[in-house]
Amino acid sequence: MPKNSTADTTPTQAALIDGKWTDGSAGTFDVCNPHTGKVLHEVGSCSSADVDKAVASAKAAFPAWKATPFVERAKIMRRIHTLFLEKAEPIAQMITAEIAKTITDAREEVFEYSAPSWGKAAEEILRHRGLSFPSTQEQTTNKRLVLTHRPHGVVTAITPYNFPTDISSIALAHIAVAGNTVVWKPSEYAAVSCAMMADLFVEAGLPNGVINVCQGDGSVGSALIDHEDVKAIFFTGSTATGRKIAAKAALRPHLLELGGDGPFIILADADVDAAVEGAMNGCFYYSGQVCTSAERLIVHEDVYDEFVEKFKARTKQLKIGDPAKDDTEMGPLCNEATLKRVVEHVEDAKAKGAIIEQTGPEEGLYYPATVLTGVTTDMLIAQEETFGPVAPIIKVSSADEAVEIANMSGLGLIASLWTRDLASAWRVGEALPHGTVNINETSNYWDQLAPFGGAGNSGVGRELSQWFLETFTERKLLVFDLGGEHTDRRAEGGW
Ligand code: NAD
Repeated sequence: MPKNSTADTTPTQAALIDGKWTDGSAGTFDVCNPHTGKVLHEVGSCSSADVDKAVASAKAAFPAWKATPFVERAKIMRRIHTLFLEKAEPIAQMITAEIAKTITDAREEVFEYSAPSWGKAAEEILRHRGLSFPSTQEQTTNKRLVLTHRPHGVVTAITPYNFPTDISSIALAHIAVAGNTVVWKPSEYAAVSCAMMADLFVEAGLPNGVINVCQGDGSVGSALIDHEDVKAIFFTGSTATGRKIAAKAALRPHLLELGGDGPFIILADADVDAAVEGAMNGCFYYSGQVCTSAERLIVHEDVYDEFVEKFKARTKQLKIGDPAKDDTEMGPLCNEATLKRVVEHVEDAKAKGAIIEQTGPEEGLYYPATVLTGVTTDMLIAQEETFGPVAPIIKVSSADEAVEIANMSGLGLIASLWTRDLASAWRVGEALPHGTVNINETSNYWDQLAPFGGAGNSGVGRELSQWFLETFTERKLLVFDLGGEHTDRRAEGGW
């Protein structure tokens, strides 16, 4: 059985319910180190009975939390922010051990993004304003219409492996600060770093039951979605899982952040050197396991040869190896499922005529940095999210052709466009359906205070800052009639 803690007090139990870690009743699962292949921790897994207990805890905590003054909620969020910064280093190291994000990128995730999200949520709730407006329905000045927000109740948050503490911090902080209570199902690949983060909530004095945690695989997420006391849903993960959740969300508010198709378009007048650096980040940051990765490099024929030559040369310089080392730029993939899909896409492209050049080891979960030229739109790699360290390059002869190819996938999270011409940037930017189009910036750039989310099969809704609060509160209109004189046009006999 999993113990309450290992010698280093790492939480490995199945659930945090009502402020206490407890064993689950669905056995255990192993969290492995993708670099060594060794088991890091045995973590307890929740059954649907455990999910019931976690939801009951969140439901019981809701009335008091909803009634907690905004300034008090904000104060607790700031305490979590401060504590998180103090304890960030071991959490970053655990992220590297569990999911093989390089230690430099894991530190960035916790110090730059995850911890500050709690502070940002505290600021945001104090600026989450309602509206008051005049009645336009009647000939009167006696009406007052006031729009307020109220929390939904119990919300579930289900998160993916690639930004285990960042995506969940954004979600949990904003959902909770708005007065909701939460049951969080972290990724089974990043269970321990997430549990370490959850420990901070208890230490910071977040009231018991406001954020509960259920560990386990997709069946635990599924039980949460099925639960009738779960009133709203936050999900980030693949489009395939998102579709199942959307089908069950029914009339409940839901925010779905799903897969991307990352078109990275380089027009004839682009700054090629800058585009090469942008593409290196877009294709190889965290071995391409990012929803905003550059999934397809769509390059104008006028700059194609120059781009391909320079990009291949830069790829050969990548430092690939142990993600725990400070100077490593790319480590292995996180898990077998991701590796299998990458291999399938590359083999399919090879079979259909793509030319392949690889740098780095291919063993265990390591997959080389891979450049594919001669890529055509009938290849899987050009149609679906690959989520690996691959750079499929497609040659085009016009901006219109680039847009046509970019729009083929039905996904639409983020696109990157390289041009020095303002009118081209504007026209192409508008012609892409993607939720965000970065101009002369890598696809992996997003701002923590700007709306983020996908169109088409990339998701439903927008997250970050006030957009998050809008989804996870219900708009409520209070209409007052102050009494006094009303003009009655019917009585006056005419319109
Ligand atoms: P995934 O869909 O396999 O899993 C995500 C989470 O859902 C995990 O916690 C998993 O246990 C859970 N889950 C699995 N099946 C479930 C079900 N039937 N019901 C409820 N929960 C279930 O995704 P992943 O492999 O962890 O993450 C990679 C994917 O996430 C990629 O497609 C990536 O593009 C996407 N992603 C999107 C964004 C975004 O903001 N749009 C951000 C990060 C990752």
